[in-house]
Amino acid sequence: MRAVFLGPPGAGKGTQAKLFCERLGLCHISTGDLLRQAVADGTQPGLKAKEFMDKGELVPDALVLNLLEKRLAMPDCSGKGYVLDGYPRNIEQAKSLDAALEKLKSRLDAVAFIDAPRAMLIERLSGRRACPSCGAGFHVRTMPPKKTGVCDSCGSKLVQRADDRPATIENRLKVYEKSTKSLIDYYETRGILRTIPGGGEVEEIAALLYKQLKGAQ
Ligand code: AMP
Repeated sequence: MRAVFLGPPGAGKGTQAKLFCERLGLCHISTGDLLRQAVADGTQPGLKAKEFMDKGELVPDALVLNLLEKRLAMPDCSGKGYVLDGYPRNIEQAKSLDAALEKLKSRLDAVAFIDAPRAMLIERLSGRRACPSCGAGFHVRTMPPKKTGVCDSCGSKLVQRADDRPATIENRLKVYEKSTKSLIDYYETRGILRTIPGGGEVEEIAALLYKQLKGAQ
């Protein structure tokens, strides 16, 4: 299974991609995570990426593609397959992905488009908290840690991602409307798009996704 999870920020792509991959033994590739790792490592591409990420803008295509190609070439991606979470985010990236997969004599089997109402996207993003040490994710209302502001798993102080602050959320939603939304038509035309409503509970959406994607290979 080689799939893309597509949708606006806050639709639950990351949560769903992680669950889906754990359950099916697939490789979860999040370009957001790859970029955040590069930022944390303080590499030159990481420093460059941070300028864009903090504003909620897209990081230049070439920089993201480079990280993605390296990740796709790792051995765990050639096993049962992978889910791309957060890539592509515009038509140029979709074309680059087609070319990269062609080089690997591979292709996409399915694109899951997960959507949710705008007010819900904002509520989900603004309440999100993350553990900078172990990466665990929480939400102040729907998935609060046992002790406010403290990670259940490792006891570290939870943080809010810089790009989950209100002004940046607005910009990320704008960027999605302007650049990413057109991918729905791009993949619809190819006949590999599956639409999943992302407004429900995590397990409810996971079941819908599984139903839509099984048999897509
Ligand atoms: P995410 O974790 O997917 O919400 O991504 C966080 C941020 O990383 C985005 O707001 C962008 O600044 C950057 N980013 C992630 N994936 C991409 C991509 N495919 N192209 C450009 N920028 C990206």
